[in-house]
Amino acid sequence: AIKSVDDNYFGSYSSFGIHREMLGDKIRTEAYRDALLCNPSLMNGATVLDVGCGTGILSLFAAKAGASRVVAVDGSAKMVSVATQVAKNNGLLYDENKEVELKQISKVVSVVHTKAEELDHKVRIPPNGFDVLVSEWMGYCLLYESMLSSVLYARDHFLKPGGAILPDTATILGAGFGKGGTSLPFWENVYGFDMSCIGKEVTSNSARFPVVDIVASQDIVTETAVLHSFDLATMKENEMDFTASFELRLSESGAVVPEVTWCYGIVLWFDTGFTDRFCKEKPVVLSTSPFSTPTHWSQTIFTFEEPIAMAKEEYLLGPSASAGTEECPAVMIRSRISIVRASEHRSIDISVETTAI
Ligand code: SAH
Repeated sequence: AIKSVDDNYFGSYSSFGIHREMLGDKIRTEAYRDALLCNPSLMNGATVLDVGCGTGILSLFAAKAGASRVVAVDGSAKMVSVATQVAKNNGLLYDENKEVELKQISKVVSVVHTKAEELDHKVRIPPNGFDVLVSEWMGYCLLYESMLSSVLYARDHFLKPGGAILPDTATILGAGFGKGGTSLPFWENVYGFDMSCIGKEVTSNSARFPVVDIVASQDIVTETAVLHSFDLATMKENEMDFTASFELRLSESGAVVPEVTWCYGIVLWFDTGFTDRFCKEKPVVLSTSPFSTPTHWSQTIFTFEEPIAMAKEEYLLGPSASAGTEECPAVMIRSRISIVRASEHRSIDISVETTAI
């Protein structure tokens, strides 16, 4: 039998390992928990839609936060049955038959097997739409395999006008990294032997494909640039693709003055915000930056074909046409990165152009 892309996609979420990884990611899960539990003026009595509920964790937080009704949806049949059982075992599952007599605020969670896009066929939507839409939709480099378009669809069809979307902002950022951000140091000394020829092959391969891995903050050599910001409350689906042009200069800590600093590539990451637009009492930021505690998203690493030599402006003799070499280091890297959705479902095409100046 031929499985559809969606079958495979939802199938991949049915194994518990990935849910264990997400729930075990405290930075991720506690950001959502704090946004939901520490903003009573938003959550108390609210109707909430949890898009892509998985184990149901966000719905459980919402119920605990005093929501009057929580509808959790997932495209994976397995996760729906699991989330239903979990909500029931924690005394939070809504009971259709006892609706009138119970009026127990805690039993508010309904779990529904549906793609977010088909929700209206399966569930009673509040007359003006839900008060709050919560979803954890982010993928590697924010957009890889992300379900953002499903979340935007749900926002436009099932959220009340002016309703809250959590998170409500997402920003992609980037910076240049030094040799420590590559695997070169590892291969240069393997039990005392020089295997740097392997290191060179590995880095030139990763020049063609991005690598998802952790970059340590001390390996960042440039300032940070904001590539793009999404306003999730207002953006349109066709605004997901973008091209960003930005400049990276050596940071104070990255520069090894008066010597040149080698920049081996650009690392991208994202932050999502639960801002005071909706989270009045306690705004929250979920950051996947190299300067913050690592998350299961790590960072996304783009290695240059050849490293670029950089120096602080005050150490340069003057501008040059062949900037970026040891004799003639660059003052900045000018880069153009575009991220567009590929025709293959849920994957993305990323192009990175860089010039040493
Ligand atoms: N909210 C959970 C799970 C996040 S993973 C948590 O925070 O731990 C994303 C989940 O969304 C997966 O379980 C996946 O099956 C589901 N999903 C992805 N796209 C969807 C869509 N279009 N409609 C419904 N569910 C979707």
